[in-house]
Amino acid sequence: METLEFQAEARQLLQLMVHSIYSNKDIFLRELISNASDALDKLRHAALVDGLEADTSDLHIELVVDADARTLTVRDNGIGMTREEVVQLIGTIAKSGTAELLRKLKESGADSRELIGQFGVGFYSTFMVADRVSLVTRKAGTHDATKWESDGTGTYTIDTVVGAEVGTTVTLHLRPADEQDALYDYTDEWKIRQIVKQYSDFIAFPIRMGDSVLNSMKALWARPRSEVSDEEYKEFYRHVSHDWNDPLEIIQMKAEGTFEYEALLFIPSRAPFDLFQRDGRRGLQLYVKRVFIADDSTELMPDYLRFVKGVVDAADLSLNISREILQQDRHIQMIRRRLVKKVLSTVKDLMTNDAEKYATFWREFGRAVKEGLLAGDDNQRAILDIASFATTVGAEPTTLADYVGRMKEGQDAIYFMTGESRAQVENSPHMEAFQAQGYEVLLLTDPVDEIWVDQITEYDGTKLQSIARGAVDLPTDTPAEPEKEQELTPLLTYLTEALGEHVKQVRLTHRLTTSPACLVSDADDMTPTLEKMYRAMGQ
Ligand code: ADP
Ligand code: MG
Repeated sequence: METLEFQAEARQLLQLMVHSIYSNKDIFLRELISNASDALDKLRHAALVDGLEADTSDLHIELVVDADARTLTVRDNGIGMTREEVVQLIGTIAKSGTAELLRKLKESGADSRELIGQFGVGFYSTFMVADRVSLVTRKAGTHDATKWESDGTGTYTIDTVVGAEVGTTVTLHLRPADEQDALYDYTDEWKIRQIVKQYSDFIAFPIRMGDSVLNSMKALWARPRSEVSDEEYKEFYRHVSHDWNDPLEIIQMKAEGTFEYEALLFIPSRAPFDLFQRDGRRGLQLYVKRVFIADDSTELMPDYLRFVKGVVDAADLSLNISREILQQDRHIQMIRRRLVKKVLSTVKDLMTNDAEKYATFWREFGRAVKEGLLAGDDNQRAILDIASFATTVGAEPTTLADYVGRMKEGQDAIYFMTGESRAQVENSPHMEAFQAQGYEVLLLTDPVDEIWVDQITEYDGTKLQSIARGAVDLPTDTPAEPEKEQELTPLLTYLTEALGEHVKQVRLTHRLTTSPACLVSDADDMTPTLEKMYRAMGQ
């Protein structure tokens, strides 16, 4: 037997669990059942697709309570884990950026509920209710099993055992019952029954306790929306997304005819912390006629909508389709096109019907969605329609359509300026004339803004014009004054020579009201921020 230490981040999270003030402890069971269900899906898939020899005739989850010993056991006959996998999956938190997020959240004084929501801590939630947890697991296709055990503090033990069945058994040694609060007695069968019904009813495998099956096993996406309660949708969302928050919006789709599929999609209510990390969790679950195929099908959503969660169940795919073929498959491409259109139109509906939800959506995901403007696909316009931007007029972001509606008499372009922050852009000398003459300017401060404004030059027939580039003629500009220009020619010549190769030209401008000078780029030059970005990347 070996004693190993939890990785530092894992230890921190565990500590949060042990001392959790999270009021709803019941959810530990949902996390265990969710893991068991994933493991059963994986075994069935491995048998079907990879030709693994395994008994898949009675895939199920089994719950056993022992009131005297104060234990609760959750067992599945799914894929199981090797010893290395146990160390890797249970002993560490593999996601990069976790340590930093933990630190940030701590500094901001976020409560543990918030943390749980961001991490979806899964297996570790067992330590909210147990002071010791043991796990025995045997990977399908291997002989030896592994036993893992911990009290949730600094270390765990790991050992090789023999004679275990394929699958995973998790045993919780429950903390002493809280006498004040019978709600927390997890050796009460009735209580267990109720939790399963509430959180895990849709799980596709039977969850058994004694002789009875506790869940209805109905695939949620196949049921008419009118028959499914909001609570059921929310629980299903948690299962597929590993997010503990409620979804912002639910999208259900069904197509009949040549390509049959059903989809149940969710827009989360907050961005996951790894939205902008390369190894972030993404993709939809793919099923073929109710059989689970893959967990992270990135083929079904473009990258800029990578935060969308859910399930697609396609009728016309082969069960053992490989990843490479999936990418080429025209059914998949067709489904993807429809899903994208539906997601974008759903957001557009939110804009009209639920301004608050729309604002949440854009705040959380706008930065990712704007990446779609670079893709050059036929949804550019639809993305611009649902985009909103900070503006010099008011604190709330504006849509392009609203901006155009407010344009002044004679104004022929949507003015914008890119930069690193709102303050930097607002205080830029470029802004002076526009502010002084009452022209609205969009403040584009996300890195991705620098790039898409290079590719998109108009919105619905109105030009997009950077105020930091070229000579922008404002309709209300005072006409040029030839005498003044003549008078200042020597100064301009002097400055041009003095600045030498640092500038292309020094010219007189009407756009400044208080600053003596400002730097502008040529219309087709890079913006200063983009230049900086490229320089930072060593180009
Ligand atoms: P998540 O489910 O979000 O990945 P968890 O903490 O719930 O996080 O589980 C961590 C990992 O441990 C899972 O991704 C899975 O690989 C593995 N795991 C947990 N429970 C089981 C189980 N019953 N059978 C097989 N693997 C499991
Ligand atoms: Mg889990």
